[in-house]
Amino acid sequence: MTESVIEARNIFAGYGNADVLRDLSLSVGPGCFAGLRGPNGAGKSTFLKLCLGMIPSRAGLITVLGEKPGSAAFRQILFRIGYVPQNTAGGSLPVTVREAAAMGRYGKAGFLRPLSRRDWELVDAALEAAGIGELSGCRVQELSGGQCQRTAIARSLAMEAELLLLDEPTASLDAGGRAELLRLIGRLRKERRLTVVMASHDTEALSECEIIYRFEGGKASGELSCA
Ligand code: ADP
Repeated sequence: MTESVIEARNIFAGYGNADVLRDLSLSVGPGCFAGLRGPNGAGKSTFLKLCLGMIPSRAGLITVLGEKPGSAAFRQILFRIGYVPQNTAGGSLPVTVREAAAMGRYGKAGFLRPLSRRDWELVDAALEAAGIGELSGCRVQELSGGQCQRTAIARSLAMEAELLLLDEPTASLDAGGRAELLRLIGRLRKERRLTVVMASHDTEALSECEIIYRFEGGKASGELSCA
């Protein structure tokens, strides 16, 4: 049996004493495109943060790429997980798109190691794969919402992530931008065999998913079976 990329069993997790996720179970197989949908506040972002070890689980079991988020072993494999948070604005850092994508290599290589020529080749290939090669020298503050999403995706590709966690990636995009981003995700899944988990309200984006988990009342229920 192939091991799941994400396996969550009877999870309780939240903030302070309040559990947002209550007895939540779900599973995402290798190469799967899984959607998380549900009303605002249902816990989709919280689940993604749990997968990254940003918040702990109070009860239940969760493994991501075979490790328990937050554990020492998990921190060693964190570079295998790309995360595109909500509102991926460029922020106030005065860096170029190429430098922002290169942060993915630092995550992998270690912050104290200067990047090698090979690292920069991977960064440039990631920018091309994300369709923003021509923006390489632009400042991230100057980017549109869609270009910011692509920069965050390029950063994940530069670190050769196997799992991509996307939080409302199409929220700030117009119809054209949404369609382009979905095409990009489809292409990357095929070419790089990425496993993708996407929290979204966007019905069109969710229709591309092989399995959709509906978040409600702290739990998740699967709506389609993974092909
Ligand atoms: P969704 O992504 O489904 O909209 P979230 O996971 O963002 O839902 O939020 C779930 C619940 O957790 C909401 O009630 C929200 O107010 C609460 N919440 C989110 N982040 C925090 C936080 N950092 N501290 C306390 N409560 C939070």
